[in-house]
Order: sequence, then C-alpha cells, then structure tokens
Amino acid sequence: MKKQTKRRLKVSAAVVAAAGAVAIAVALMLIVPHRTVPVLMYHGFTEDESATSTLVIELEDFERQMTYLADNHFNVISASGLADYLANGKELPPKTIVLTFDDGYKSFFDLAYPVLQKHGFPATAYLFIDGLARPDDLDRAKGISAEGLVEIGSHGVTHRMLPLLDPDEIAWELVSSKQQLEAEFGVPVETFCYPAGAITEAIVTATAAAGYTAAVATAYQRGQFPRGNRYIQRRVLVSPVAGCPRVFRIMTSGYYVPARELTLKILGIRVPRDLYRKIEHHEQASADIHR
Ligand SMILES: [Zn+2]
Repeated sequence: MKKQTKRRLKVSAAVVAAAGAVAIAVALMLIVPHRTVPVLMYHGFTEDESATSTLVIELEDFERQMTYLADNHFNVISASGLADYLANGKELPPKTIVLTFDDGYKSFFDLAYPVLQKHGFPATAYLFIDGLARPDDLDRAKGISAEGLVEIGSHGVTHRMLPLLDPDEIAWELVSSKQQLEAEFGVPVETFCYPAGAITEAIVTATAAAGYTAAVATAYQRGQFPRGNRYIQRRVLVSPVAGCPRVFRIMTSGYYVPARELTLKILGIRVPRDLYRKIEHHEQASADIHR
C-alpha cells in the first residue's frame, strides 16, 4: 500500500473513532441524568424450557435474577412504596427496584411466589376483576395476599385497553375495579396498571381522580408526557432475553428505560405501533360522532 493511502486510512479511522466517542458521550449526557427506579414487569413462569414466550419466562431464570438482586443488595420495594417516595419527594435509597406481576397467572402464585418468599422480596400483583371469576383463582390470590408480602394493585375490571373506551367506561374500569378488589381482599388498592400499557393524557388524569397514588405503564407513549409523573411509570418487560445475566444487569441499572426512550425518540418510533394505530382510529371515530 502506498504511504499516502495508508495515512488517509489512519486519519479516517481516527475521525470515525472520535465521532463515535462524541456520540456515546452525548448519549450518556442525555441518559445519565434521567436514571429511573427500575420497575420490572413479569407475567408467567414455566419449568419447561420449550414453553417460554415474550410473557412467560423460565423459572430458573427468575430464580437467578432474584439471587442477583439479593447478592447485589438491591432495595426491593412495592409499587405503592415507590409512589410514597415519589409523592413525598423523599430521597430513595440506592439500588431501589420494584417487582410487578401482571394478570394473576397461576404460575406466578405457584412458581414465582415461593422464590420471592425465599428472599423476602415484596412485590405488586396487578389483577383484573374478570380474571378472578373462577373461585380457585380468587382463593389462590387471596391466600397469598393475606400473607402480606404481595400487595394487590388494580389492572381494571375487564382488561380492555382504556384509550378504546368512552370516558364513563374508563371511569368505571378505574373506580369499580379498585372498589371490588378492596372489598374482596380487604386491603387498600393504591396503584393501577394500564391494560397493555395504553394511555392518553385524559386517562392519566382520570386515574389520579379515581384515587390511585400512582400507575404503571408499559408502552412508550406518543407525544411527550412529562418526566417524573408517578402516574406514568414506564416498566421494563423481563422477557426470555433477560435470561442472559448481562441483559438483566442492564435492565436493572436504572438506565434501561431512559436509554430505550431516547433511542425510540431519535428513530421516531412509537411502540407498539398497532396499538397506537387502534387508538388513533378510535379517537377519529369519536371525533366524527361528536362533530
Ligand atoms: Zn395485563
């Protein structure tokens, strides 16, 4: 290779490296100040490696994850505990983390709960009324709630996505589910979990008006929702990829949510896309009716 070409290659490699370093530095400057308390979202568990899905992870992975939290002295608190901190502006202890379990899967109670018990980790189970229709399911949930480690949060009455409902139905999902769960379980139900993570500004306002102290979401909303709103706590979906310890470490770092949010914003992506398309259709249809 000619000397000149070699030098040119060296220079361009240096430029690329410098540009990369600047990009990483800028990304870090944007992400680091926004560290959030990781709120992990789980659904179902299985002992059968071939039966996993986005929402069902291997029990062995879950055991390893809880051991990691214990060994690294994470401060595990419930969703209402976090709401308390946020509402009162109290300083959170380092390495605070929240564990949430949606939909009342049987495998949560049978397989995951004993692991929580072993570590003494509190958790929040988000249950919806229609999901407790079978006496077996209700009794199982009640039995575990009575033991005091798992608090009950509301996931609505029917698990329908709130942005697709009319305002009176939204209020009913929020208020009636809270009342029914409180009556059935005999405990205060303080936090709400939006079905499919779907929200709009009006729903966030209605959730606060229904008497909840905080709410957890999933999806990355369109438009800009204010940061630090305790009614829009974005959660981390712990899927089978978190079976890789390095991935789980990133998910629990407190930087996963802001980094993901920033990436999606830069790429102009709203996820889940089909959900927001449905919401837009619904809003368009209601606007047409009221015109
Ligand atoms: Zn759900």
